[in-house]
Amino acid sequence: MQRSLISDIIANDIEGEVNIAVWIQDTRSLKNVIFLTVRDTSGMAQVTIRKGTLDNEEKIVGLNRESVIAVKGKWDRKSASKLGVDIVAEKIEILNESLAPLPLGVDDPVEADFDTRLNNRFIDIRKPEKALIFQIESTMLWGIRKFFNSQEFIEVHTPKIVAAATEGGADLFSVKYFEKEAYLNQSPQLYKEILMSCGLDRVFEVGPAFRAEQHNTTRHLNEFTSIDIEVSFADHNDAMAFLENAIKHGVDEMLSRHSDQMEKHGIHVDRVKTPFPRITYEECRKLINDAGMNLEFGDDFSPEQLKVIGNKFNGFYFIIDWPSSMRPFYTMPKPEDPALTNSFDLQFNELEITSGAQRVHNPEILEKRFLDKGLNPSEFDFYIKAFKYGMPPHAGWAIGLERLVMILCGLPNIREATLFPRDRTRIVP
Ligand code: ATP
Repeated sequence: MQRSLISDIIANDIEGEVNIAVWIQDTRSLKNVIFLTVRDTSGMAQVTIRKGTLDNEEKIVGLNRESVIAVKGKWDRKSASKLGVDIVAEKIEILNESLAPLPLGVDDPVEADFDTRLNNRFIDIRKPEKALIFQIESTMLWGIRKFFNSQEFIEVHTPKIVAAATEGGADLFSVKYFEKEAYLNQSPQLYKEILMSCGLDRVFEVGPAFRAEQHNTTRHLNEFTSIDIEVSFADHNDAMAFLENAIKHGVDEMLSRHSDQMEKHGIHVDRVKTPFPRITYEECRKLINDAGMNLEFGDDFSPEQLKVIGNKFNGFYFIIDWPSSMRPFYTMPKPEDPALTNSFDLQFNELEITSGAQRVHNPEILEKRFLDKGLNPSEFDFYIKAFKYGMPPHAGWAIGLERLVMILCGLPNIREATLFPRDRTRIVP
């Protein structure tokens, strides 16, 4: 179908005949003229129909909002239309009529409640400010992918139907797999580590992760998109450097493509400065205890305590050297102090975005770590085996794409950055 995007007509100052394909947002019929306010994925325009010039103008005036039409016409550069683009129609083809009333308005001054919006996501995302979130998400991921590509990573795809829980936890969805029981994978952790033994050196994966967490928060989904990396002959410091650079490249790409629209819709994201500050778990504990709250070694921070730390930093920072008791079995203990680990969380103000670490690569230490965590190593034979025949030292991290976009764009709820959220009560649409 031959068509121009509204934004291209403006940007390229297209002269003469133009073809656009659009949704009708509003219709006003005056004495001599009909004005249509129309929208495509790139912006809004006005279509002017001079009465008496089109065969089907009565039918067009009667169309419900959100009907889809194709317009052939001339761009009137002198038009005073406040939308900036006014196309004088020469021919209009009706591509699809919308029913009325709409289950949700596209330009209602008062926003509908969140459930109504999510139930009618197909209309909700027609709103330019909602679509922008997913355009940003895609562009940022593209920037991150380009960065990994420039660093010789390969993109991999590990199974999502698995026989063993990644971390042995209870937060698993089970699925019937013929005569066996299987699970939806919580994370590609075990498989991406096995890939280090394959000699693939630097891998990344972008794929779904499933968590059967019962809680319903504004930061958690039961299915989210995990960006994972794993790198051979690397430690936690190397992993942190890949992380801050990946985010920097993602944000640069986002700003280079969307800054005008972001400004228009009030989304402010600063350029990322690297390296990010690093603070140890012990230093955080001291800050918290100095602020009059009590945090024992090995306890996780409460949201109030994270605020105390977040107040010291503006934007991104790492919390490093977490206690062994708080990290999964695959996390490398610090050689000089095994009560701590070579691990990190990336924070943005008071919110967690990522966790990562150097991993254990010695199979005996790994088996001991399984037992320390109350897990049965024999359930993980397929994983431990890959460590017994030449596993290089390695490190990596995982970041939730929706969590990252939510935090960067200052969205109030992770569901705003998820097309069709899966949460404790929602699996439709
Ligand atoms: P949290 O403490 O926030 O529940 P976690 O410690 O379970 O996260 P990891 O298992 O380390 O997180 O997962 C790595 C990253 O994946 C997190 O930092 C976050 O960005 C994202 N993530 C984890 N769980 C969820 C979830 N339920 N919904 C959305 N994103 C998530």
